[in-house]
Amino acid sequence: MENNSITIIGGNIAGLSTAINLAEREIPLNCQIYEAMSGPWDKPCGGGFGIGWGDMLKTKYNLKIPLKFSKTLILASKFNRIELPVPLYTTSRKILQRELFNYITDKDLIKIHLNSRLNFKKNFQKFTDINVVATGINGFSRQALNKRFRELGTFKYKIVENPAESFTSTIFYMIPEIKGYAWFFPSPNGKIDIGIGSLLNSIDLDKEFHKFLIWLKKVYGIIIKRDLNLITWGIPIPISKPGKIFRIVNKKMFVGVGDAIELADPATAAGIEPAWYSGEILSSAIQSQSKIDIKKYHSDLLKFLVENNYSSNVQQIIASITRNPQIFHLIFTLLPNYFIKHLLKTQ
Ligand SMILES: Cc1cc2nc3c(=O)[nH]c(=O)nc-3n(C[C@H](O)[C@H](O)[C@H](O)COP(=O)(O)OP(=O)(O)OC[C@H]3O[C@@H](n4cnc5c(N)ncnc54)[C@H](O)[C@@H]3O)c2cc1C
Repeated sequence: MENNSITIIGGNIAGLSTAINLAEREIPLNCQIYEAMSGPWDKPCGGGFGIGWGDMLKTKYNLKIPLKFSKTLILASKFNRIELPVPLYTTSRKILQRELFNYITDKDLIKIHLNSRLNFKKNFQKFTDINVVATGINGFSRQALNKRFRELGTFKYKIVENPAESFTSTIFYMIPEIKGYAWFFPSPNGKIDIGIGSLLNSIDLDKEFHKFLIWLKKVYGIIIKRDLNLITWGIPIPISKPGKIFRIVNKKMFVGVGDAIELADPATAAGIEPAWYSGEILSSAIQSQSKIDIKKYHSDLLKFLVENNYSSNVQQIIASITRNPQIFHLIFTLLPNYFIKHLLKTQ
């Protein structure tokens, strides 16, 4: 690595956003990305996000990503269900990453080194004045930012053939007993992403998931085979503001973006958009190869989280009802549907 350049460790949403947004600023920068994998990969993820962001990727960057449109968001439980007109897109993470790689390489913006898993200690002498930690929730982020990820949730999920192509809703099935929910996400190419997540340890997620499958069949006639061999993954969910976002080690700055600083949404665990926007916000705080306005990054990030992610009624309410059985019972058993719809109307 050349000295006096910016190093981005992790070439996925957050890292690639930082790179693209830095390149757009047209300040003379020598910047390189190091990605552990040998190419685009299917990062465990539902791949769901708001239509505004999806449309922006298509129009501004002309990315060729398949977008599956879901018209309604269904919040449900064993007691009740509410259909909300909240549209969402879902895409393939592998294709999204590939398209972002292509955008960067076609325009010759920044060099991407694949197959380059950096080790914080062993590769330390190679790091530059400013290092962007975009490595997600993993050991590198933990070491570089000296973080202890708080309250890890457990997720189990699988992407499988969609048995109900004509069904175009996204379902969150709340299970307050496990402080979590099961989900059904229609995905592109005739697939669905289906799974279950909980904030509690030692919970029999498979048992709860099975109940969800029975409910899906009973209510929507959707039949999913029980033995799916779900994949397990951890994610820090309940974060209301970013914790530690940077660290200076031996005069080298390590600054985090995306999952590395726990930016997943507190209600739905959605982290794609926060990962992208944290990269954009960070890039505008970088003044030169060796100068970064960290206060600006921090305050702009907080502003973004408050204005865009964390102030949404829908997200706050989902967060409350998954965590708090009293609120849950009030909303799902006592209140009439029309009132709930009114409550959840704003997005
Ligand atoms: C089961 C599940 C479902 C989810 N569903 C959704 C959803 O539907 N919608 C949504 O918005 N969010 C969802 N999320 C969250 C979303 O996946 C993350 O918030 C998002 O991927 C964060 O992007 P990132 O770029 O910060 O990190 P990541 O996507 O984790 O990327 C980190 C990159 O760094 C690379 N890397 C790691 N270590 C090194 C190293 N030492 N050297 C070099 N490279 C390294 C990795 O290979 C990887 O490519 C889900 C998460 C899970 C677990």
